[in-house]
Amino acid sequence: MVFEYAPAPESTKIVDLKSNYKLFIGGKFINSNGAKTYKTINPATEEVLAEIIEASQKDVDLAVKSARKAFKTWSKLTGSQRGKYLFRLARIIQERSRELAVLESMNNGKPIRESRDIDIPLVAAHFFHYAGWADKLDYAGLGKNPAPLGVAGQIIPWNFPLLMLAWKIAPALAAGNTVVLKPAETTPLTALLFAEICQQAELPDGVVNIVTGAGETGKYLVEHPDVDKIAFTGSTEVGRIIAQTVAGTNKKVTLELGGKAANIIFDDAAMDQAVEGVVNGIFFNQGHVCCAGSRLLLQESIADNFLDLLYQRMKTLRLGDPLDKNTDVGAINSAVQLQKIKELAESGTKEGAQMWSAPCEIPNKGFWFAPTVFTNVSLSHRIAREEIFGPVLSVLTFRTPDEAIEKANNTPFGLSAGIWTEKGSRILEVAHRLRAGVIWANTFNKFDPTSPFGGYKESGYGREGGRHGLEPYLKAGK
Ligand code: NAP
Ligand code: MG
Repeated sequence: MVFEYAPAPESTKIVDLKSNYKLFIGGKFINSNGAKTYKTINPATEEVLAEIIEASQKDVDLAVKSARKAFKTWSKLTGSQRGKYLFRLARIIQERSRELAVLESMNNGKPIRESRDIDIPLVAAHFFHYAGWADKLDYAGLGKNPAPLGVAGQIIPWNFPLLMLAWKIAPALAAGNTVVLKPAETTPLTALLFAEICQQAELPDGVVNIVTGAGETGKYLVEHPDVDKIAFTGSTEVGRIIAQTVAGTNKKVTLELGGKAANIIFDDAAMDQAVEGVVNGIFFNQGHVCCAGSRLLLQESIADNFLDLLYQRMKTLRLGDPLDKNTDVGAINSAVQLQKIKELAESGTKEGAQMWSAPCEIPNKGFWFAPTVFTNVSLSHRIAREEIFGPVLSVLTFRTPDEAIEKANNTPFGLSAGIWTEKGSRILEVAHRLRAGVIWANTFNKFDPTSPFGGYKESGYGREGGRHGLEPYLKAGK
């Protein structure tokens, strides 16, 4: 039975939206050196939210200079002094969490239930975690007195705008670096609100600089000769360009790229929990998740039964207004991304897979894609190989654990995987043989600041989170 829910929209009054935003450089909001501007929108309504600056090469240069200047004093502070600022940032994020969550949902399209209960709490947790590390760097496994690298250039995608900012900024600052961060073109607003929070926390000027813009702005940052480290999260395609650009320079680089995770269900798995795990694995955040469980591997003997349960569950998913507290599936982040999802879904049908979509009403305005499942998928299909980055699940079957492992590893990516079985020994054996950076057992898409995250193969290199996440921002001490 499907319950009828009355609308329960979250008010947007808490957000003080400005009509246009400046760049955050040297602790101040400043206008650009004659750069272009663009409009950022709400993907659920296509309404313009604000005008944003596309930072020019000169602007990026100014931001790097201000980060370099700040590095001289920031890196000399004691760890506990730096920790004090990070604790402040974490606490202000908690205090302003509702404002941040509403703004994130407005600019990204993700359901408020997720931005409120997952994204923003994890952002605060990340700052708390690294605040605790700031005076304990001697115990990071890098010898005594490890040293910061200098200025970090950080480039993030649009799927978890503020969470990716936290993953980048918190460890960099704890380790004594200063940063210039470029948010994604389509989702700059929470990064700019975070800039205000830096002012509120009285973070020394220039420790954090935010330059908005598109790919071109990111390119200036990557190419800047006075940047010591590039931290990038985004597509494998752009990751490759960055790796080529920094090759032969002294810049350090970490790349967190795409994925095509296998979510493997064995015949002894607890069915209802596994169905929930599959739904959470691929429909959380509209599937705009690099570690999404986008390939479902079902043991053949339970496949039909499992798919029946899955379709029943999917019929209860509510798609619509991201600001409604009852919404499960929000808007696709941009027209460009929607087009990419549609094109890949069409290729699935053309190549002979069978498509089923949950029956939901698609709003007239905005960018939407109903939760979709493809069966009759073979390993060679594009929908089994390429990252769709949308609410689309490709189903494959297997007979033996060996076949499951073989199919799961048959991908250029290696970011994450899921295993569902009641047998502990099978979990250990399968996890050991899967080539993926993060493996969940009887759960999926669980994140914790203490746990390292990162990929194998074309999913990139370097780890973020936990003690491991400090390493890319430190030179080993004695
Ligand atoms: P993207 O196009 O690679 O963009 C990522 C960031 O890089 C954006 O800020 C982007 O600016 C910027 N950029 C684009 N071209 C650039 C260039 N030539 N030089 C420097 N920066 C450049 O990826 P996306 O479409 O935003 O995000 C989706 C992808 O990110 C998916 O493939 C997903 O798997 C991956 N992802 C990975 C992780 C992870 O942790 N492994 C996490 C989240 C997402 P614009 O916004 O203007 O394009
Ligand atoms: Mg892009």
